[in-house]
Amino acid sequence: MTGHHSRNTAPMINSPRCGAKTRKGTPCQAPAVAGKLRCRMHGGAAGSGAPKGNSNALKHGLYTADAKEMRRFVRELSQKTKEIIDDI
Ligand SMILES: [Zn+2]
Repeated sequence: MTGHHSRNTAPMINSPRCGAKTRKGTPCQAPAVAGKLRCRMHGGAAGSGAPKGNSNALKHGLYTADAKEMRRFVRELSQKTKEIIDDI
């Protein structure tokens, strides 16, 4: 046993931390909600955020999952084409 803690606090110390910017400009560092990147005060709370596929705030669709997937596909395709051309 290391330190003066009588309890096992290693999982708490090693858990992912919230990276939200505080008013001081430093990261929040509170423990992040399981499966999320933010703590419960910074948008990680259960039921927070829009459900998948909801289009209530859709303006142009440039950042929808579909559009991102399409751009990823085009990027990979042009990368592979470049590799093939380089091989020739
Ligand atoms: Zn936070």
